[in-house]
Amino acid sequence: MSKEVRLCSPTERECVLCGRKDAWDSEICNWEIAIENGEKKTGEKFCMHEWDITGTHKSIIEIV
Ligand SMILES: [Zn+2]
Repeated sequence: MSKEVRLCSPTERECVLCGRKDAWDSEICNWEIAIENGEKKTGEKFCMHEWDITGTHKSIIEIV
């Protein structure tokens, strides 16, 4: 179950709920909305955004 350890932090993240994509902008040290095919991947405005990155692999918390 070992995962490949990356030296760099992720430069992209995607919301598993709405498809929102962000790209890391190292110049401003913040996430910017990714643009694909000239379209901003903003996703759902009111989505809570569950990012598909596991920098620190947390166990999934089950909401009952
Ligand atoms: Zn989302």
